[in-house]
Amino acid sequence: MRGKNATERVPADAGGIARAARILNEGGLVAVPTETVYGLAARADSAAAVGRIYAAKGRPSFNPLIVHVRGIAAAQRLAEFDATSTALAERYWPGPLTLVCPLRGDAGLAPAVTAGLPTVALRQPAHPAMAALLDAVEFPLAAPSANRSGFVSPTSADHVLATLDGRIDLVLDGGDCAQGLESTIIAVRTDGRIETLRAGPIAVPGAAPLGATLGVEAPGQTLSHYAPGKPVRLEAVAREEGEYLIGFGRTAGDCNLSDRGDLVEAASRLYACLHLGAKAPQPRIAVAAVPGEGLGLAINDRLRRAATPA
Ligand code: AMP
Ligand code: MG
Repeated sequence: MRGKNATERVPADAGGIARAARILNEGGLVAVPTETVYGLAARADSAAAVGRIYAAKGRPSFNPLIVHVRGIAAAQRLAEFDATSTALAERYWPGPLTLVCPLRGDAGLAPAVTAGLPTVALRQPAHPAMAALLDAVEFPLAAPSANRSGFVSPTSADHVLATLDGRIDLVLDGGDCAQGLESTIIAVRTDGRIETLRAGPIAVPGAAPLGATLGVEAPGQTLSHYAPGKPVRLEAVAREEGEYLIGFGRTAGDCNLSDRGDLVEAASRLYACLHLGAKAPQPRIAVAAVPGEGLGLAINDRLRRAATPA
């Protein structure tokens, strides 16, 4: 069924969700739209299914996966979900906030999901397709971004198939993702402190800034990531010879993140522009400067990683 055969593509409607649920039950891999990027889902309670995620993506085994849940009650069955976590989930779920909490001994997750860590990353997604899929199955879904490891994240079904066609069973086509940036990741410590492990669409008040604990705590947040496969020059003011220019605001390019200089629009278009740059005939990509406040923090975080050679 999976492996060498072409990947099935169906609309993310009721029929598609039912088909996806059947495949997931059997331990298969399904790409699903979420409000952030497309996720590559497998049942999180099956070592074989989770192993297929790592194999299909070529993802290093030290890089743990985010577990998608139906809500706070489901999260409490997997993690020590304390008052701080509950308050954050009540405020921001469903939505693009991932909480890293102590893993419960009886969680029943495949060990590869957490890459052997004593913590687990949890999120309740808001996208109707992912929410319907979680309602249709009886297990949580491990789901990293639906792309080969290290490449640009997918915000459309075409992007998914660009690197995973033939490697996964099904893609649910739900059109373009609304936010276009991976979730904010917050670690909730047992003493109640909260720390940002990955910048994203949600800025959580009171969270210690990014960088304080990179390395051990956020495996997988490597410097080179989201790479389009050619050199990327940042803060460009004009196109140089041989460059595909991604514009922002007054700097107009071959494609534009947002010509009105809007960061929300820029986030939603970031990966689509990088995919276009990757496919363009020019051997290099240049990107106009994007302001570093608010959502711009997360956008610049992804751009820096896209510009760092592997
Ligand atoms: P992705 O699903 O590809 O966006 O990547 C998920 C990211 O979540 C990983 O690269 C890790 O940095 C982070 N993550 C997942 N689980 C944990 C955990 N238990 N502790 C810290 N970071 C985690
Ligand atoms: Mg990813």
